[in-house]
Amino acid sequence: MRLDKYTKIAVIDISEHILLGLVSVSPLIVKDPVLFVLAAFFSVFPDIDHLIAARSFSIKQMLSLGRRPFLHSIPAVFLISLVVYLFSHDFLVTYISFITGLTHLVWDLCTGGVRLFYPLKKDFQLSQLVGFVLIFTFMILSFIIIQI
Ligand SMILES: [Zn+2]
Repeated sequence: MRLDKYTKIAVIDISEHILLGLVSVSPLIVKDPVLFVLAAFFSVFPDIDHLIAARSFSIKQMLSLGRRPFLHSIPAVFLISLVVYLFSHDFLVTYISFITGLTHLVWDLCTGGVRLFYPLKKDFQLSQLVGFVLIFTFMILSFIIIQI
């Protein structure tokens, strides 16, 4: 089976987000497979906005938007985490949705522009070094959270 260029890009991107999201909350998820699945889900959740913005299931169209859509912002990550809390009333699940959402933003900041404070139109970027330091910091924070 041969994958086209856009499908390969999407598979690599999703894999990177899941891997880094799992790393950022790894101290919390090693003991609970449910949290592992939730962390993987929330690690890629912001990319659902590509589907909404493209109004298509075509991966080529989703990847050809020009810029990352509205869920790729700090306000959206807060809102998603608030909704998660309202439904779950669980601090750990909410924390995982928040940190994996931030990790998604960090990695996208390292691989292109993100409108971090959407609807403001300013694009932000990060070097991969700063991105890895932030993700490592999230992992340390997760280690501290599990001690509480
Ligand atoms: Zn993304």
